Amino acid sequence: MKAGLLPLWRDTDTVQIGIDPRRAAALTGLGTAAAVLSLLDGSRDAGELARTAQAYGISAATTDRVLGLLASAGVLNDFPASLHKFLPEYLRARLAPEMACASLAYGDGDGGARTIARRRAAFIRVYGAGRIGACVATFLAASGIGRVTCLDGGATEPADLAPAGLAIGDIGSRRGDAVARAIARIAPETVTADNPQLVPDLAVLTGPVTPDEVEALMRDRVTHLAVRAEEAIGVVGPLVEPGRSACLRCINLHKAALDPAWPKVLAQTGLGAGAGTGAGAGAVPAACDTVLAAATAALASAQALAVIDGCGPQPPAAANGTLELFLPEWQWRRRTWVPVSTCTCRARGATR
Ligand SMILES: [Zn+2]
Repeated sequence: MKAGLLPLWRDTDTVQIGIDPRRAAALTGLGTAAAVLSLLDGSRDAGELARTAQAYGISAATTDRVLGLLASAGVLNDFPASLHKFLPEYLRARLAPEMACASLAYGDGDGGARTIARRRAAFIRVYGAGRIGACVATFLAASGIGRVTCLDGGATEPADLAPAGLAIGDIGSRRGDAVARAIARIAPETVTADNPQLVPDLAVLTGPVTPDEVEALMRDRVTHLAVRAEEAIGVVGPLVEPGRSACLRCINLHKAALDPAWPKVLAQTGLGAGAGTGAGAGAVPAACDTVLAAATAALASAQALAVIDGCGPQPPAAANGTLELFLPEWQWRRRTWVPVSTCTCRARGATR
């Protein structure tokens, strides 16, 4: 049965699997065959299940009927045996909550196996290892991403420390190395060594990025997500799918249309007009407290995982938009940014 859903009795003949009506299903008419439910803990294949049930006096036909009812209600997982070989036991145990959550969220009947296989094969490169970047990198590694690298040659400072990122012993050492150590503590199987020859599946821009770096991402068609939190505002997005959704330059063209002085303001951040929506060379210290950094990093990680998981027909919410957390409201809001027709990215008219 799907992990994460509790079987609960509504009456002597009806079992409800799950609590919240948006996830739960009710099955009636089980009678004595209800004992089959207690055997569905994932430890037996279909043949073993039928044999064990028979030992309890339940016929193979009845077991089949119960499995059919559960499957049609969408609460049965058929976890592929191949993944048992692919994932070591300890890793399967650690990733069990990820798989249970993915299976429910995406409605997959494979116990999250498809999602975890995609994550294990993925490479995400995080630019910047401040509070947000270090948090994003550790969240992604803990979520099962196979290779997570973090580019940041700066030295760790006290203001970089965060509960899900860099620790006090890292002060003074290279931030990128400190992130690799943080990942090793929570997800030691993750590859953290970068290889400039490899094109990542996704780049997350949490620190200053140069126009050249943005240009390279566009040229190599690397999907990238801009993330920043400063001035007591967290911003996740845009998620740029080059040529398919609004790029960083599109956003700056929109801003320049609203405020003619915007290019001049942007130039003073030291990033030029090509970038600017990744975290910039902002004020020191940034007005981004621990909780704002964690909230922004969490939503950014969720958007990143949505890209890797390929969760459905809808693009992630940060494509052609930004998700913004303005304090002290603590209420995420989405702003829409459509591609600009004059932009060199030529995303205008794309399907998204
Ligand atoms: Zn553009």
